[in-house]
Amino acid sequence: MEKSYIISLDQGTTSSRALLIDEKGEIIQIEQEEFQQIYPKSGWVEHDPQDILNSQLRVLHKILEHITFPLNKVKAIGITNQRETTIVWDCITGKPVYNAIVWQDKRTSDYCETLKKRKLTKYIRKNTGLVIDSYFSGTKINWILENIAGTKEKAEKGELRFGTVDSWLIWNLTKGEHHVTDYTNASRTLMYNINTLSWDKKLLKELEIPISMLPKVKPSSSIFGEFEYNGTKIPIASILGDQQAALFGQACLKKGDAKNTYGTGCFLLMNTGKKPQYSKNGLLTTIAWGLNGEVKYAIEGSIFIAGAAVQWLRDEMKVIESARHSEKIALDLEVENPVYVVPAFAGLGAPYWDMYARGAIFGLTRDTGAKHVTKATLDSLAYQTRDILDAMQADSGIELKKLKVDGGASANNYLMQFQSNILNKSVVRPKVVESTAMGAAYMAGITVGLWTEKDVIESKTVDRVFNSEISKKQRKKLYKGWKKAVKRTMNWEIN
Ligand code: ADP
Repeated sequence: MEKSYIISLDQGTTSSRALLIDEKGEIIQIEQEEFQQIYPKSGWVEHDPQDILNSQLRVLHKILEHITFPLNKVKAIGITNQRETTIVWDCITGKPVYNAIVWQDKRTSDYCETLKKRKLTKYIRKNTGLVIDSYFSGTKINWILENIAGTKEKAEKGELRFGTVDSWLIWNLTKGEHHVTDYTNASRTLMYNINTLSWDKKLLKELEIPISMLPKVKPSSSIFGEFEYNGTKIPIASILGDQQAALFGQACLKKGDAKNTYGTGCFLLMNTGKKPQYSKNGLLTTIAWGLNGEVKYAIEGSIFIAGAAVQWLRDEMKVIESARHSEKIALDLEVENPVYVVPAFAGLGAPYWDMYARGAIFGLTRDTGAKHVTKATLDSLAYQTRDILDAMQADSGIELKKLKVDGGASANNYLMQFQSNILNKSVVRPKVVESTAMGAAYMAGITVGLWTEKDVIESKTVDRVFNSEISKKQRKKLYKGWKKAVKRTMNWEIN
């Protein structure tokens, strides 16, 4: 095969990355730059859109400047991005009218309550697959138009553009020629109808957002525009939101395939095939990707506190030196551990949905020490994953065969073994844990004919498979203890 390359741009919440990948799917070069997080008030999180763009351009240029082969061997650029983060800019000057409002930002929580009072919950779930929450873009756009002087008038005159980060990057990479996004990003805005694949007129009216602000939505595998560098034009051939990119990068291409990313939080997504599946447990229904004229859907659950609980052990409790150190402690403690840690630091998410729950440690005895608490904290990541997966299987009617894992904490062998024990499923850790960036790269490569879906499946070399090593009886006893512990953390704040 002729030497060819793909560049993947991975625009994350804390850093911008660019990767050069060859036709065998090997990563040749990675560049990364962090950028500033802005916290103007409690609960508010912003980024400077220019910072996002400049850091992304700098890492891209670092890759391009190092290239010694003819530039036309770079067949495509793929983009994956932090989802939901909202940018509004003036299409005449190209300047943002306000900072990017980041997905974590809670400023529109009260406004979300008014949407609930307007009885939109059911309509939104059915048509967008989402729950009413400040997390998603729609209410963030509304906030900008309501609070930044002059923006409403400009929006009505058709002079403003909205985009998630992918749209903002492409607008700039194509010098203002293309205002576009893909199905996955659109499906996180609270305004996109995931059944009809179009902007939802009723919701635009409710949110008071003119349709002229919105990007054209295309399948994730599409030519979104071209980026020109030293006279060579490189097609931008994929866009995927970060979690969907990880699902694709993990080769979860078939109905029932699922992945869990263990980072600060955990994100679990299951491919549910060609039809959206709706949840009774507060999980989200979302578009997995659009490829080869087909749309695939996913069901998604997230855990707010996962790796963050390990950070808590290190930074607040000061019982471990590093996150990695937790593995050795847990493996050294061979006796049965009667301790449970429920890290409900910010309440409990799916499937419990109790914002008044608070964290707790249970089962303390005279000989309980830091090592028991450390081990129990790792266990809590696995138990929370089981809670979500049980709900997912019930909602989708699909039985999970194995769980593919990635993210920082998936390096922990104790945790992965315990995960398999508690799920009674194989847990599969790939060699390359760069699932997100690779997902966007593979999607772009498929668009330009460099790869097929079969190549994505074959690219997944396994680092380790964990299989359950405990009996049904032990599993039942352990999980029962967890459920009991969770129950006792509930309604804490208001009692
Ligand atoms: P994010 O993308 O959310 O920043 P990463 O995928 O980089 O997260 O993973 C970092 C998180 O994983 C941190 O919260 C850290 O505490 C946790 N972590 C990293 N390594 C380990 C490990 N070996 N064992 C347990 N937790 C770990």
